[in-house]
Amino acid sequence: MTAKMQHIATTGADPRLAGGRLTIDLDALVANWLLLAERSKPARTAAVVKADAYGLGIIHVVPVLWKAGCRTFFVALAEEGLRVKAVAPDAQVFVLNGFFAEAFPVYEQSNLTPVLGSLQELASWKALNAGRTEKLPYALHVDTGMNRLGLTVNEAIRFAGESKDDKPILLITHLATADEQKHELSQRQFESFQKLREHFSGIESSIANSPGIFHSLNAGYELSRPGVAMYGGEPVSGIANPMRPVVTSEARIVQIRTGLKGETAGYGATARLTRDTRIAICSVGYADGYLRSASGSGVPLRQTLNNGGCGFIAGKKVPIIGRVTMDLTSFDISELDEGEAKAGDYIELFGSNISLDDAARAAGTIGYELLTSLGNRYHRRYLYSGNEI
Ligand SMILES: *Cc1c(COP(=O)(O)O)cnc(C)c1O
Repeated sequence: MTAKMQHIATTGADPRLAGGRLTIDLDALVANWLLLAERSKPARTAAVVKADAYGLGIIHVVPVLWKAGCRTFFVALAEEGLRVKAVAPDAQVFVLNGFFAEAFPVYEQSNLTPVLGSLQELASWKALNAGRTEKLPYALHVDTGMNRLGLTVNEAIRFAGESKDDKPILLITHLATADEQKHELSQRQFESFQKLREHFSGIESSIANSPGIFHSLNAGYELSRPGVAMYGGEPVSGIANPMRPVVTSEARIVQIRTGLKGETAGYGATARLTRDTRIAICSVGYADGYLRSASGSGVPLRQTLNNGGCGFIAGKKVPIIGRVTMDLTSFDISELDEGEAKAGDYIELFGSNISLDDAARAAGTIGYELLTSLGNRYHRRYLYSGNEI
């Protein structure tokens, strides 16, 4: 936190009453987006803000991105699209998760653009537009190797030949393996998409998610679609993360107690204390997205991966003892000097000292899941250099 930063908004739980707090650095978020935009050039850069901007809040994230020059947003659901429009009325908003006819009036009224991903959706969209003199724009999703959403490549080629005045405004595909730089599927997907684009001449296309932007084959499209890297997550596994951390998650110490050598701690008595142990009991648990799989012991993951998660306080990493529970998690603070931690202090769960991705790995998962699981019991502080958003 630099001095010029101003505390612009606090939401979520009352800080006096909450167990955890999140500090969300919107300057870092904007810097990350600008870095991604730079790397994406000459393509334009959108922002993926599905799942309430990966748990950080559409109403806080979208306005600062808009101010930084982002004009295009992707969401999973039309409901989320409305929330983007509420704070950025002129934004172009693409809805990824399919199209159902009953939602048409909302797309029409609120100027949302569906990403159509099957022949059935295309037919439905076409029929609903039939009565209109001016057809509403849509994007087309083609599946080049993920087997999730999208027309098959052959369906898309056939469609390109048949469509005339009902062409998409954007052609997209999604990469399955871009986070593993060497995976051969990415190459096949890039090649397949490249060929497909020839059938849709004059139509903009989009392929790169966060890892795609860092991929060696990253080129030849007009719009990139980063999500996780903007929020500080690692875009590519096994390579130093070039992004700035955006979220700091901290939990409040409720009490500090000493367990004696030979005793156990927590549910299942899975943590056996091998020395007299000072334990910080913190007000965070799996109900706050601090996953039970990060437990120090007593969960299946610890039979394959030895170390559980850890916290950070007074310049030191402190391991989780025993099982993470719904509302409480215990950390071994024996390595701290007496007085370096007391009830009421905060322990960092992830942030600038423990990376989001390291915290996720300790729980056997990915940063995306930690962010989108945060929930609403935290007090949230949003930092931004200007007051005005
Ligand atoms: C989620 C998503 C993205 C963003 O992916 P990140 O890995 O978070 O950058 C881009 N495109 C599609 C279709 C998505 O579903």
